[in-house]
Amino acid sequence: MPLPESLTCVLCGAAYREDPSRYSCPECGELGTLRVSYDYDCINALASRESLAATPFRDHWRYLPLLPLAAEQVEFPLTVGATPLYPVPGLRRALGLERLWIKDDTANPSASLKDRASSVVLLKGQEFGCREFAAASTGNAGASLACLSAALGLPCHIFVPETAPRAKVAQLLIFGADVLSIRGSYSEAFSLCVEAADRFGWYNRNTGYNPYTVEGKKTVALEITEQLGWEPPDTVIVATGDGCILSGVWKGFTDLHRLGWIPRLPRLVAAQAEGSQAIKQAFDGDGTIRPVTEDTLADSISVALPRNGAMAVQDLRASGGIAVTVSDGEILEAMPLLGGTAGLFAEPAAAAAVAALVKLVERGDVSSAERVVVLSTGHGLKDVDAALRAVEAPEPLDCSVDAVRERIGRP
Ligand SMILES: *Cc1c(COP(=O)(O)O)cnc(C)c1O
Ligand SMILES: [Zn+2]
Repeated sequence: MPLPESLTCVLCGAAYREDPSRYSCPECGELGTLRVSYDYDCINALASRESLAATPFRDHWRYLPLLPLAAEQVEFPLTVGATPLYPVPGLRRALGLERLWIKDDTANPSASLKDRASSVVLLKGQEFGCREFAAASTGNAGASLACLSAALGLPCHIFVPETAPRAKVAQLLIFGADVLSIRGSYSEAFSLCVEAADRFGWYNRNTGYNPYTVEGKKTVALEITEQLGWEPPDTVIVATGDGCILSGVWKGFTDLHRLGWIPRLPRLVAAQAEGSQAIKQAFDGDGTIRPVTEDTLADSISVALPRNGAMAVQDLRASGGIAVTVSDGEILEAMPLLGGTAGLFAEPAAAAAVAALVKLVERGDVSSAERVVVLSTGHGLKDVDAALRAVEAPEPLDCSVDAVRERIGRP
């Protein structure tokens, strides 16, 4: 399939060719992430909306002509993508919205959207000739790389802050990854992973830093568009930490637009935690990403220095979008709202996108007829301790029908 034409630095605009050791711009450093671009005529010669409709593959490899891989066909041991887009009637009623959908990416193999990026990076790394992989992670990127590399029989090294939620660490260990639990923050683990991968020759999946993470994550936008019958949504709400999912979503829609497959682009909403809002501050200010303190229970979007921040701010602006912050309290309210109206269990970071939607509705920043898609990016079982803070545990009852009758207030 057509390989990328060039990789362009988001900060200085310098263009590079593909290279296994090229992650970010050598002039701008780690924050100079690279945008991948293609020869779109070449893609149009290979694929179309009609050819997609005819492909037998349901998982995200159906979009292979739009992915940065040389492979003509992919057989992957687990199903990545092909996640449901639910119309959530109960949540529509609760919020007074007529056309709302939840894209349930918790249905991926490791229960988060990160599998889209990990799967593409694992194949790309192997095409580059690498057999050993590494990632720094607040939890999900690591769990995802560990899960998929286990299925492929490849070794991986995962750097996590020692504070990562236990369920995510359990995933890493069960998948047999080499887990490096770091006394430090995610940002520190990130830099250490860059150094170690370089030193020991591992292919590095770090979010944003590896340019193919955005390419992998874009398939969520491709799926949403196809699921909506090629009628793109008006608004897409994305929980945002490093800003890689946000840019992936934008890349998916802009690729489709450049190919002439969709007539218009949605606006994006970046949902950030009040306690970790570097992208919101840069978006509201001069566009420059400055480190913030990270303090939120939503670990997956708790990021002091967003590595894909510059690209995310540019993309948010290009989409005519906005950044919204939500408090931990609002996140904890959104979890049972989504669970109780839609039967979907989201981890705090994913629920932040629902909390942002609630806020937009309250402020009148979204109209009842608008076509809105909210991404549910990670499963609630990944952080049960946080979930139990969102609800009240029941008082134990005596084991008798009388106690039940009293409890439910019936005669
Ligand atoms: C990684 C992650 C995010 C944020 O993605 P970024 O690319 O870091 O902005 C949101 N929700 C969940 C569940 C995640 O795992
Ligand atoms: Zn640069």
